[in-house]
Amino acid sequence: MSGVHTVLNPATATPVAEVPATGLDETDAAIERSHEAFAAWRGVAPGERATLLRRFADVVDAHVEELAGLEVRNAGHTWANSRWEAGNVRDCLHYYAGAPERLSGRQIPVAGGTDLTFHEPLGVVGIIVPWNFPMPIAGWGLAPALAAGNTVVLKPAELTPMTAIRIGELALEAGLPEHVLTVLPGKGSVVGERFVTHPLVRKVCFTGSTEVGKRVMAGCAEQVKRVTLELGGKSANIVFADADLPAAAAAAPYAVFDNAGQDCCARSRILVERSAYDEFLGLMEPAVAALRVLDPADEASEMGPLISAGQRDRVLGFLDDAEVAFSGSAPGGDGFWVAPTVVTSADPAERIWREEVFGPVVAVMPFDDEADAVARANDTEYGLSGSVYTRDLGRALRVARAVEAGNLSVNSHASVRYWTPFGGYKQSGLGRELGPDAPQAFTEEKNVFIAH
Ligand code: NAD
Repeated sequence: MSGVHTVLNPATATPVAEVPATGLDETDAAIERSHEAFAAWRGVAPGERATLLRRFADVVDAHVEELAGLEVRNAGHTWANSRWEAGNVRDCLHYYAGAPERLSGRQIPVAGGTDLTFHEPLGVVGIIVPWNFPMPIAGWGLAPALAAGNTVVLKPAELTPMTAIRIGELALEAGLPEHVLTVLPGKGSVVGERFVTHPLVRKVCFTGSTEVGKRVMAGCAEQVKRVTLELGGKSANIVFADADLPAAAAAAPYAVFDNAGQDCCARSRILVERSAYDEFLGLMEPAVAALRVLDPADEASEMGPLISAGQRDRVLGFLDDAEVAFSGSAPGGDGFWVAPTVVTSADPAERIWREEVFGPVVAVMPFDDEADAVARANDTEYGLSGSVYTRDLGRALRVARAVEAGNLSVNSHASVRYWTPFGGYKQSGLGRELGPDAPQAFTEEKNVFIAH
């Protein structure tokens, strides 16, 4: 081990646990053991691998309250969110437990023989997880990767290792063979980088900042290593004047302040048609004021603290030169709190309009017509998600198709379902997770010709 990391409760800034950091030699040894376990795991019959994953899901289900409690303390997530997140791991495991028996190839007509395709597992898959959604992002990688016959080494973020470590223990309890899933808490610069450079790791799934994602991609290029990237976002919530404005204004705070805005899908830019701009802001103000920003240990809390003092200071830095329209409340004390804040933005060149804040701050700007709305929404290097509020179905579809982002919702801000594809355009990412095709992304398609 190379040192320990003191995990803090972000609501109170008090220590929760000391977690040893995995060193380089231990990372190498874990990758080698994972590689050795691969030979047997890929050979487990499809039905049996499915049964093991269902059992894993059932064990996670039996520990939802425990896992949720860990996340409330370690990440400052609300109880409602934490229970959803633990349940999401269970659901991903159940869903992808259906994959081993369905990983079918094709038979393609050819002259002089038979042609068959196979989906072969890759080997060891390295999954690098950020601190904002420790459980779901771990589950989105590990469940389809294991289902497709790979073994997994997983690195949680330094700040939030608790639930991943527990999920690793639950896998063994469920009967997964040793070293099929290995959780390695530690530094990105040590464990994460080793996933990129170690030749036995055949694919890296990285979720995190665009900056680190670019380094991971460049590192993977050295070995032409497969890579999936889920990166930052600056998603737009586009509200047309013909929308159900009270509904759109009531939903807008939850579309950006959920998880204290530390959500890659946060609709952190709101574009409102000019004729409805004042009315929309007037409707949104009481909705923001009513948001219950409380210690997440309180079941009534709808928004908790930010993950760290550093993140709080970064977010507050964005407010120095921003035009605050109104804000909600936040507790005092030693925790890392920022009140939900709505700012108006007059110029798309403003930092608050362009950069990912990753905190409870949303910028609002008017637009003139449909073409202007789409142009402003697309004026960003990111492209992860977005929302369109309108009663005009034709317009809803036109705009949803025109926005350069991977996950759009109409009259809604729901972006994530484990059975639909998820991922970004432009600098928000590369590749897709979740949905029916996720296991294929953890395989190589092999073609075999048999001469008659
Ligand atoms: P980060 O990039 O600093 O860290 C993410 C993970 O990468 C951590 O586990 C970290 O230890 C590891 N890491 C750091 N340096 C590394 C290196 N050199 N090599 C390999 N791994 C390394 O990001 P963060 O601050 O933890 O997370 C916040 C960011 O994640 C935001 O930008 C957010 O938008 C993004 N995010 C994106 C999605 C998505 O699906 N698109 C989901 C969640 C979060």
